[in-house]
Amino acid sequence: MCLLIVIGISKCQTGRAMDAIKANFTDIHARITKAAKEAGRDPAGISLVAVSKVQPPEKLQAALDCGQCVFGENRVQEAQTHWETHRAAYPDLRLHLIGPLQTNKARDAVALFDVIETVDRAKLADALADEMAKQGRKLPCFIQVNTGEEPQKGGIAPLELEALYRHCVDKAGLSITGLMCIPPVDAPAMLHFGLLATWAKRLGLPHLSMGMSHDFEDAIRTGATHVRIGSALFGERLKT
Ligand SMILES: *Cc1c(COP(=O)(O)O)cnc(C)c1O
Repeated sequence: MCLLIVIGISKCQTGRAMDAIKANFTDIHARITKAAKEAGRDPAGISLVAVSKVQPPEKLQAALDCGQCVFGENRVQEAQTHWETHRAAYPDLRLHLIGPLQTNKARDAVALFDVIETVDRAKLADALADEMAKQGRKLPCFIQVNTGEEPQKGGIAPLELEALYRHCVDKAGLSITGLMCIPPVDAPAMLHFGLLATWAKRLGLPHLSMGMSHDFEDAIRTGATHVRIGSALFGERLKT
């Protein structure tokens, strides 16, 4: 009897959690549309990358049920666990790698992901190009720029960006379609978004991946084409 009640309650709570995710998706879509319109931009030009790292399977399923098909993950192995089984049932699934990549994981990353957002050094560009050739998968890539020049963070320093871009395109033959950044937590994000937008323009790149749960509207005002949103959709991440 007791057990039944407990199961009943937990099912009900799961239902409420899923309702919350649906409401979050509706809210975030509305906010993206509003920010885009205020900036005189077409909301269709902004793609929501739902950051699903560290989230439980039922929340991923709730997002899929909402029609979300673009997801961001920052670890190769976790992304495999999360998504390999969904591939067959969701042919529109698009996975973005948004975390640092070691060259020895390039093979798995190229096999699983559809977009690599974190190219930040020549050696990694070469490893990715090799794997793409071997696997016959030419993935669009972004270069990650360490706009705050923080030593603990991935990304190429702004002053070295152009040389890396040339290497990626001319030597490695990668398809670089945009730039990505994660501004320092304690700095005004707008400055970093603006810097990234200026560089993308200079290099003639159409895509900008910038803006997270707390600052995606500013990012859209500055030209973001991809916003990476985790906690505002799924709730706070449990500590790993
Ligand atoms: C975790 C993560 C996000 C999402 O952050 P939220 O604040 O939860 O929206 C975005 N981008 C990267 C690179 C991340 O690692």
